[in-house]
Amino acid sequence: MAAVENVLVIGCGTAGSALAILLSRGGIAVEIAEIKPSLNALGSGITLQGNALRVLRDLGVWDKVSAVGFPFESLGLRAPDGSLLAEIPDARTGGDDLPATLGMNRPELSAILNEEAQAAGTTIRTGLTVDALTDTDDGVLVAFSDGTTGTYDLVVGADGIRSKVRGLIGIDVSPKPAGMGIWRVHTKRPKDIERTDLIYGGPAFIAGYCPTSADTMYAYLVEEARPRESINDADKPAHMLALAEGYGGAWEEIRTDITDPDRINYTWFESLLVERPWNRGRTILIGDAAHACPPTLAQGAAQCLEDAWVLAELLLAADTLDQSLFDTFMDRRYDRVKTVVEGSLQLVAWQLAHVTDADVPGLMGSIAATVSQRP
Ligand SMILES: Cc1cc2nc3c(=O)[nH]c(=O)nc-3n(C[C@H](O)[C@H](O)[C@H](O)COP(=O)(O)OP(=O)(O)OC[C@H]3O[C@@H](n4cnc5c(N)ncnc54)[C@H](O)[C@@H]3O)c2cc1C
Repeated sequence: MAAVENVLVIGCGTAGSALAILLSRGGIAVEIAEIKPSLNALGSGITLQGNALRVLRDLGVWDKVSAVGFPFESLGLRAPDGSLLAEIPDARTGGDDLPATLGMNRPELSAILNEEAQAAGTTIRTGLTVDALTDTDDGVLVAFSDGTTGTYDLVVGADGIRSKVRGLIGIDVSPKPAGMGIWRVHTKRPKDIERTDLIYGGPAFIAGYCPTSADTMYAYLVEEARPRESINDADKPAHMLALAEGYGGAWEEIRTDITDPDRINYTWFESLLVERPWNRGRTILIGDAAHACPPTLAQGAAQCLEDAWVLAELLLAADTLDQSLFDTFMDRRYDRVKTVVEGSLQLVAWQLAHVTDADVPGLMGSIAATVSQRP
């Protein structure tokens, strides 16, 4: 008999839907409670590294992901005028039979994972959250926001960086601003952009882009964090354009599309790391609810997917659920996630301090070596 018969996952993002797919396929009854009223995801693009793609292949969705995403194998470094300075091969952290990197549109990734979870037997309830979690002798009694209750063998908080579950189980950790803010625009892909190119040394700390399909990409500019309340929607194009003015090359074409506030997003870089263990009794946090990092290494979603993969593997292999299973989970996840969070923050710190001789390739190489190993 499996360690658990029924599981409640709170949050239908990358981590929650990935876990639901694996557990449902393993014969466990899985319900997801998602606070949003519908599963239609927002957002522009996402850069997925090989180790994320490896989990997506294990989830059985690689064919769908690769059909819509845009794979590439190198990173370009350019000067602010657009001229190419260097071309660095990307590490194939998911193995040689997967691309090094793939960009895709977030709503498409989300739809693929949600559909796969439902096809595997997961029940997804939207417009719903949890108000209380009470450990009983052999499960968790859950009070939902619609007044209903349920009892589950395991509850998984996959409700993102501002996790409510984290607070409900008494873990008092909040996201910390990293000091930078990022402007992103979802735009059309100029035909000659076939990978991510980064520019350091212009008006922004980083200017970059990532193709997300044959026709689309997202472009971004990273600057020192400004008060979020100082930005109103109508002014977003003007703010982003002012920074983008300092760049040539592909940015001349990108600039012409920085017009629609609805396709421009501004957010802060934040980080969070819950000390191990990530469970209290039979409720455990995974994904951004437990750890989050600025996207300087583009490892956020990869670490969420790996959490789901490892937890599912342990739950499906065990016949009882006790603290030793959670401790084994932490042994396989904590140091790796900490390395990624700290590495992502180190890159931010070097930029903020204008360190010019930092060993960026050394840091990136060492993270790539770590995440190339199966977790
Ligand atoms: C600016 C930026 C750029 C990024 N770029 C990249 C990138 O290029 N590559 C990469 O790998 N990572 C990137 N990341 C990180 C990545 O997006 C996250 O690590 C990942 O999406 C987290 O997945 P998650 O499932 O843990 O949480 P989320 O995706 O946040 O999902 C949480 C889900 O829980 C739901 N929820 C929230 N609260 C409740 C509640 N109380 N009850 C029920 N449901 C709830 C939410 O609606 C959501 O559906 C980036 C992050 C940022 C901020």
